[in-house]
Amino acid sequence: MRDERSSGAVVFSIDKNSGAEFLLLHHTSGHWDFPKGNIEIGEDEMQAARREILEETGIRDINFLEGFRKKIEYRYKRGEKLIHKEVIFYLLRANTRKIILSNEHIAYVWNKYDSAIKKLTYKNTKNVLTEAKKFLETNSPEKL
Ligand code: ATP
Repeated sequence: MRDERSSGAVVFSIDKNSGAEFLLLHHTSGHWDFPKGNIEIGEDEMQAARREILEETGIRDINFLEGFRKKIEYRYKRGEKLIHKEVIFYLLRANTRKIILSNEHIAYVWNKYDSAIKKLTYKNTKNVLTEAKKFLETNSPEKL
């Protein structure tokens, strides 16, 4: 079995009326997910997350929230090969809401937690979003 390691983030921005809104991307292969991508040789997890967010959303102006790092694992088939994948998610505040998509995605939304949790395709990423919301409630309740 082959292994892949990816890194990405739960990205939120603050809407002055409704508070924190989370960024979800609609992958060309059908699922709704957070921005993420494979960690390249010579990169650490945070560098990879920063690069992937820039490539997949065009967002450069971000702040990592210290203390949040969640790992998920899953398996998928690529042709005949079974791939084991590990993905690390950070929590980032974006200081802009303007998105420029790459050709990996067909749409994006900025959603409040209740809509975002319904839209995400996989249980493991729903769990990461719930952890991110709890983290914000504990550490920065003014953001929710
Ligand atoms: P990236 O470069 O963003 O890591 P990718 O397109 O190479 O993206 P994935 O988004 O990991 O890879 O998708 C590969 C396969 O795994 C797809 O079939 C997808 O439906 C499935 N998949 C994606 N995310 C999850 C998840 N959180 N849990 C289970 N399966 C997933």
